[in-house]
Amino acid sequence: MGINKKSVPMREQPPEQRKHNFLEVPLGYSKEEATLEAQRCLQCPTHPCVDGCPVHINIPAFILKIRQNKLQEAIDIIHQSNLLPAITGRVCPQEDQCQAVCIMGNVGDPISIGRLERYVADWELENRKKGEVKIPEKLPPKNKKVAIIGSGPAGLSCAADLAKMGYDVTIFEGFHKTGGVLTYGIPEFRLPKWIVEEEKKFFEKLGVKFETDVLVGRTITIKELMENGFEAVFIGTGAGLPRFMHIPGENLDGIYSANEFLTRVNLMKAYKFPEYDTPIKIGKRVAVIGGGNVAMDAARTALRLGAEHVFLVYRRSRKEMPAREEEIAHAEEEGIEFMLLTNPVRYIGDEKGFVKQAECIKMKLGEEDASGRRRPIPIEGSEFKLDVDQVIVAIGTTPNPIIAKTTEGLKTGRHGVIEVDENMQTSVKGVFAGGDIVTGAATVITAMGAGRKAAASIDKYLRGEL
Ligand SMILES: Cc1cc2nc3c(=O)[nH]c(=O)nc-3n(C[C@H](O)[C@H](O)[C@H](O)COP(=O)(O)OP(=O)(O)OC[C@H]3O[C@@H](n4cnc5c(N)ncnc54)[C@H](O)[C@@H]3O)c2cc1C
Repeated sequence: MGINKKSVPMREQPPEQRKHNFLEVPLGYSKEEATLEAQRCLQCPTHPCVDGCPVHINIPAFILKIRQNKLQEAIDIIHQSNLLPAITGRVCPQEDQCQAVCIMGNVGDPISIGRLERYVADWELENRKKGEVKIPEKLPPKNKKVAIIGSGPAGLSCAADLAKMGYDVTIFEGFHKTGGVLTYGIPEFRLPKWIVEEEKKFFEKLGVKFETDVLVGRTITIKELMENGFEAVFIGTGAGLPRFMHIPGENLDGIYSANEFLTRVNLMKAYKFPEYDTPIKIGKRVAVIGGGNVAMDAARTALRLGAEHVFLVYRRSRKEMPAREEEIAHAEEEGIEFMLLTNPVRYIGDEKGFVKQAECIKMKLGEEDASGRRRPIPIEGSEFKLDVDQVIVAIGTTPNPIIAKTTEGLKTGRHGVIEVDENMQTSVKGVFAGGDIVTGAATVITAMGAGRKAAASIDKYLRGEL
């Protein structure tokens, strides 16, 4: 019998049902489904998937363990490189990374590595509920304190590696909840919050300490942290400052940045009304501006909050959309109307100052720009007005400048990203950085990879080898 060229599909909540709730959309593999999918892996000797993974998980090895139904061994293999597999198994752009280079992709569907990773991670989370937690081994205490600023994937990964090496690690987080974008950005229907909470407990068991409601740069500075005995600092503060288009009417009521909208819904639980009475506008006709993951999340969230019609206004075509294919397809299935090759030029308000229309212009595609995508060009005279009562702007984010402004000698580059050398060290000795604060808005797994790389450098630095 030959190998099945088609991957085992994952069951999902049907669109008509899921667009009215915040429950997770993909439902995960059963044991039988996971075993079948694992059997498709050729266990090829070149394993390009491992290099395709930014944290180099030994993918063929953990897939082999799934086949053998040795799930504890499978999770142990994953944990060697990644302590957040229930998260990355759900949100990683595997189609551009490990799965993009899977050799099964030459003859059929690549192995569904992300789904298998999620299967193993969910098995382990279930075991934790029964009190069965296996914590990775730790080296004896080194009696050296390291401060991590920001509790997103970059900070968490850096903290975990350092804790395993025996360092005394404290994470300082500006918000009242930890997790970064995993908590305040990615919605419940893609990444249930209990998973992020559960992963946090794992870090606590490793000895990592968390101090929330500490905004470094305001509550305390990096200099003060170092005066308080922290011998090295890692900055993993992400890129949470929303960008706007600076077009007329953008300050009207009812126009949100996606960041603010999603933070109110996720972190401040606006979706749990009336249990949580978080102020938020629930639009009936909502325009979301942008074509990335953030735009898809905002559009699908607005729909679930009760919008009658959600438009996704994007200036290029579907092909250029930066969002994951799965998220684009899910949004389409749920009835989000894609207004492609369209861009807003101004917003028009009512007498009370609330947005009532978005004036848009049609676009065409020109030559490729620096991003390698074809440049959108406005078509003169093609303006039209769209009736809306809410607009959510999701056109990108940049780093918050608070730390750069309050840390003497800290060098920053374009859009305020922190500059680092090949060891992730900044221009200030003993201060390292990684994740979105260095690269600009990127992905969970690249932030994790950066956190891990910085942890290795911090260890060298504290041993006097850097
Ligand atoms: C809505 C949305 C959807 C996304 N979807 C995906 C996806 O599907 N797949 C994917 O791979 N990536 C996705 N991303 C991108 C991904 O989440 C980020 O690239 C990743 O979280 C970056 O990790 P980080 O640790 O660098 O920063 P963050 O996750 O942003 O964490 C930074 C943390 O630092 C804290 N902080 C900031 N300043 C300070 C300060 N001065 N003092 C103390 N704490 C501070 C913040 O509150 C935050 O908790 C998405 C992003 C968004 C916004």
